[in-house]
Parts: sequence; C-alpha cells; structure tokens
Amino acid sequence: MKLKNETHYDTKDLKKLFYRCIREYNKESPSEKKTDLIITIKHSKDKFANLEKRAQKETHIKVWLEQNKDWYENTYKGGLYKGRYSGKASIQGNYMLLCIPKDNLDSEKLARLFIHEYEHNLGYHHNQTSGGQRGIWNTTAFSNFAWANTYIIRKTEPIIKPKPNIQLVKFERARRRLEVVIHKLKRDQALVKKWTKKVKYYEKLLTAAGKFN
Ligand SMILES: [Zn+2]
Repeated sequence: MKLKNETHYDTKDLKKLFYRCIREYNKESPSEKKTDLIITIKHSKDKFANLEKRAQKETHIKVWLEQNKDWYENTYKGGLYKGRYSGKASIQGNYMLLCIPKDNLDSEKLARLFIHEYEHNLGYHHNQTSGGQRGIWNTTAFSNFAWANTYIIRKTEPIIKPKPNIQLVKFERARRRLEVVIHKLKRDQALVKKWTKKVKYYEKLLTAAGKFN
C-alpha cells in the first residue's frame, strides 16, 4: 500500500485503519484481494466556507442560504457539520483518491468510504454489486462497522515556525543591500581608474602631436 497523505492526519493511523478494512473485507470475501494499492488522501473542501460573503455576490448562493438558514446557523456555524467524505477509484485498478474532513473525522465513515473505493478497485461498478447492495457506500453489506470506531486517527502536530524577529530581518536586508552597493562602488572605482588612464593617454598623445592648443 502506497499512501500519499496530504492531510494533517497521521499516516500510520490511516494505514492501520485501511489494512483493517482490507482484512475485514477478506473475511467476507476471501477470494478477492488487492495488495498494490496506491492511495491519495486529501482534505475535502469546505464548500460552506465564507458563504455569507459569497452570497453578497452570487444570487444562487443567497437563495440557497435563505432556504437553509436554520441548518447554516445551527448546524454549520454551531460546529456540528461533519464535513464531506468523497472519493474516486479506478475500476479494476489500484488507484484511489479519498477526500475527508479536516475536523471531526469519523473513523467509521472513513472505513466505509475506503471499502466503497476498494470495491471499485476490485472491479465493481455502482450497479454491479456483489451481495446485493454491497458496493453502495452507506448501504454496504458490512452492516457492522463498529470495529472501525476503535481506530483513533490522530492529527499530526503542526510544525510551528518561530516568528522571525523583524529587526533581525531588516538588519539582514540592510546588510545584503550594503554588500551590493559596496560591490557596485568598487566596480565604479575600477572604471574611473580605467577611463582616467585612457583619457590621460590620448591627452598625452594628442598634446605631443600638437593637436591641442
Ligand atoms: Zn463509487
């Protein structure tokens, strides 16, 4: 399993859950197996972010907001919105893309999403499900996903860059600037020397030739 993790969740924790999903799937269906999975996992976009601002410019958003005011005010702004889980996968292939929320990650939903995409990798289309409804992500044949909830997916600690000292930054900038102008000054001094020499040379030559009065 190759996991390209573009989320702030711990790679090992994600992998542990996915391996468990595969093991659970094998219990149901021992003959089906994919081992060379290539998974990309990302944060899903929060399509409700800055919605009020966007509503001022776009009429359809304004209308939507008016119609869903209660949900928006209470659920979304109240922090109860759980985010979106979506994915894509190659049918009978080994690639899948998973998009999961930045916060309130639900291991069970992620496990269901993974298995849904995994089934695509095994060759199933949405209307082509083994065991009836298995391939449809929230009505899968795995009626019990309780095991998934025992998996805690931790967020990795954000790398906090120390704030640069502004005076130090300005000092560095001034020092570099000084270096540049000194370099330029030295070059100009060399040029002054060079052309002074030339002028003197021709002056001497022309004077000797009587061209100057
Ligand atoms: Zn699907």
